Amino acid sequence: MSSVSARQAAIAAVHAWQPVGPRVNYRDTPVGELYGANVFSDEVMRERLSDKVYRALRATIRKGEPLDPEVADEVAKAMKDWAIEKGATHYTHWFLPMTGLTAEKHDSFLTPTGEGKALAEFSGKELIRGEPDASSFPSGGIRATFEARGYTAWDPTSPAFILENPNGTTLCIPTAFCSWTGEALDKKTPLLRSMDAVSKQACRLLKLFGSTASRVTATCGPEQEYFLIDRHFYFARPDLINAGRTLFGARPPKGQEMEDHYFGAIPERVLACMLETEMELYKLGVPVKTRHNEVAPSQYEIAPVFENANVATDHNMLVMETLKRVASRYGLQLLLHEKPFAGVNGSGKHLNWSLSDDEGNNLLKPGETPHENAQFLVFLCAVIRAVYRHADLLRVSIASAANDHRLGANEAPPAIISVFLGDMLTDIVEQIEAGGAKSAKTGGTLKIGADVLPTLPRDAGDRNRTSPFAFTGNKFEFRAVGSSQSIAGPNVVLNTIVAESLDYIATELEKTGKTGEALNPEIQKLLQSIVKECKPILFNGDNYSEEWHKEAERRGLPNRRNTVDSLPDLISPKSIALFTRYGVFSERELHSRYEILLENYKKTIHIEGNLTASIAQRQILPAALRYQAEVAESIGELKDAGVTPPKRQLELLHDLSKTIDDLQTSIAKLNEAIAHDEPGTDTLAHARHARDVVIPAMNAVRSYADKLEGMVADDLWPLPTYQEMLFIK
Ligand code: ADP
Ligand code: MG
Repeated sequence: MSSVSARQAAIAAVHAWQPVGPRVNYRDTPVGELYGANVFSDEVMRERLSDKVYRALRATIRKGEPLDPEVADEVAKAMKDWAIEKGATHYTHWFLPMTGLTAEKHDSFLTPTGEGKALAEFSGKELIRGEPDASSFPSGGIRATFEARGYTAWDPTSPAFILENPNGTTLCIPTAFCSWTGEALDKKTPLLRSMDAVSKQACRLLKLFGSTASRVTATCGPEQEYFLIDRHFYFARPDLINAGRTLFGARPPKGQEMEDHYFGAIPERVLACMLETEMELYKLGVPVKTRHNEVAPSQYEIAPVFENANVATDHNMLVMETLKRVASRYGLQLLLHEKPFAGVNGSGKHLNWSLSDDEGNNLLKPGETPHENAQFLVFLCAVIRAVYRHADLLRVSIASAANDHRLGANEAPPAIISVFLGDMLTDIVEQIEAGGAKSAKTGGTLKIGADVLPTLPRDAGDRNRTSPFAFTGNKFEFRAVGSSQSIAGPNVVLNTIVAESLDYIATELEKTGKTGEALNPEIQKLLQSIVKECKPILFNGDNYSEEWHKEAERRGLPNRRNTVDSLPDLISPKSIALFTRYGVFSERELHSRYEILLENYKKTIHIEGNLTASIAQRQILPAALRYQAEVAESIGELKDAGVTPPKRQLELLHDLSKTIDDLQTSIAKLNEAIAHDEPGTDTLAHARHARDVVIPAMNAVRSYADKLEGMVADDLWPLPTYQEMLFIK
C-alpha cells in the first residue's frame, strides 16, 4: 500500500501547497540595479583594471586577439577582490564537458600562511589554467590513450560571474576544457574555433563590399521550452527522476486538444517561480526577455535577447540551471526532456542565429540600398548553400535519444532539414536563378547591386512553424534543436558550414579581380549558380505532410530518421574535410565525439529499458495482481452467496489476467533484450541493438501497462497519472 499512499500523499501535498512569502521586490531593488550585479562586466573591469590591461583584455574580447599572459595577474587580482567583496570564498573554472551539462570544481581563495593564518590568493596562473581531476568525463577515447588529465583554460570572451548560495558565493570563471595534447574535451573549444572561422571568412567577404570590419560574430538567441510539474508527483515517478521522461502513462481524457494553454494566463505559483528565476538571471547578466505558456499543459517558454553565440551558449546553460534551482523553491520540478509525456507536445529550443560585424550591423538584415542588398543576398545565399551541402551535419547536431521522440512527430519539424524563406524572398531567389528573366510575381527583375529589395514582411517566417530552418526577417531560426541540449553543437555546425560557403564565395569573387560596382555582375552570376545548385533545400510548404517526405526523397535530401542513422555523418569524409579545413575539429576529435554520442544513446536506452522493466515488475504488476485478487474475491463471494457471477465480471477478470500475463511476457522479453550483449566493441552495433530491439521491447511493456492503467482500480494505481501531473497545479 505504500506506493499507493505516495501517489495520494502527493495529490494532498499539492493541494496543501502554500505560497512562499514574496522574495522578489522590484520596487525596492529596481531591475536596473540588479542587472549584471554578479557579473565581472566591462564596467567593473574598466573601473578596476589599469588602462593598459583593460585595453589588452578588451582587444581579446572584441577582436579575438591572443591574450597577453602578463595581463592575467592584474585581472586575477581585480577579479578576486571583486568576488570577495561579493562574499565569495571559492572560485571555480566553470566548463562544458561532453556530458552536455556544466561542470565545476571549487577551490578556496585561502592559502594558509603557516602561522595559523590564511591569506586570500588568486594568481594569473590560476585564472588562466586549471587542472580539474577530470578523468571521469567522457572523452571518446582521446584521453585514455594519452593523458588521464585535462586542463581548463580561461575564456575571457565570456564574463566571469558569481553564483549565490544562501551560505556563501562562488566566483565562476568560464573556461574551455582540453586534453594535454590540446584536443577539445568540451563543447566550448570547438565553438570558439568555429566563431573564429566564420569571422575570418565573413570579414574577407565584407572587404569586397568595402567594409573595414575586422571581426564578425555569430549571434544567437535561444527560445527555451520547458515543463514545470509539482515535485510531489515527480518524486513518485521513478521514470521522471531517472530518465527525465515518463515511461508509462495512459493518455489523459483531456490533453492539449482544447488548445487553451498556449499564451494563456500563467498560474500564480509558476509566475512567481518565473519572476524569481528572472531575478537570478538578471543578476548574472542574462538578458531574459519573454515568458509565456506553451502549447502543452504545464509547458512554458523563456527567451533572452540575442547575444554573441559563445556568451549565449553559456547563458543558456545558466537559464536551464537557474530554472531548475529556483523551481524547487516553489515545490516545482523542471522537466527539460524533449518528450516528457507521450502524446503531449514535447519541448524544443528555437535557435535564432545570425552574423553581426563589429560595427553592429546584422549581416542577415535586408538593407535599404542596392549596395546593402547585394551584401545581404550574398550572405543569404551563403547560408542556403551551407545548409544544402551540410544538412546532414545540422541533423547530427540535434541528434539524441530524447530528441528522436520529437522530430517528425507532428509537433516538431521532421528530421529532414530544409530551408523556409517565405514567398517574397523565395521569389527574389528565383529571380536570381533566372538571372534577369522577368518574374511573374513582381513583374520586374532584381538586379543585384542595382535594385533595392521590396520590403520583406518581418514575420514572414512565423507563418510556417513546421520548417526546421526558417528565415525570420533578419535571422535564421533553427527549430529542431532539443530543449535539454546545449546549443553549442548546433552553433558549431552553423558557424562552420557557413564559414565554408563564405570562403567559397569570397574565393570566387576575389578571383575576378574586380571591386566596387564592377563586382555586381560577378555576384549576380555566382549567386545564380549557387541558387541553381542549392534550390532543392528550399521548401515553404507543410513539413509535417507525407507528401513532403516523398518530395524530399525525390530531391535527394537526407532523411536520417533517428540518432543512430544520423551520427555516422559526423565522421564521413565530407565532414572530416570540412571541420579539419577550418580547424574546428581534428579527425580524432570528430571520432571521439561520434563515440561519445553513440555511447550516450546506447546508455540512455539501456537505462530506460532497465527502469521500464523494474517499474513494470515492482509497481505496476503488483497493483494489477492486487486488483485481480479483489475482482476474483468479489466473484467468489457472489458464488458463495449462490449468485451466478454476471458475464461482464467474469470478462473483466479474464481480461485482467490476460493483460497481466501479456505484461509479464513483455517484461521477460525486455529483460532478454537488455541482457543481450552485442559481441565486440563496435558502439554502432550496440546502438543499433538498443534502437531495434530494446526500444520496441520497452514499447510493448508500456502498452500493456498503460492498458492496465485503464482497468485497475484508481486507489490501487501506484504512479501519478498524466492527468494529475499535467493538470493539478
Ligand atoms: P519572434 O520570434 O517573435 O519574431 P524576435 O524576432 O524578436 O521574436 O526574437 C526571437 C528570438 O530571436 C529572440 O531570442 C531574439 O533575441 C532573437 N534574435 C533577434 N534578432 C537576432 C539576431 N540578429 N541574431 C540572433 N538572434 C536574434
Ligand atoms: Mg521565434
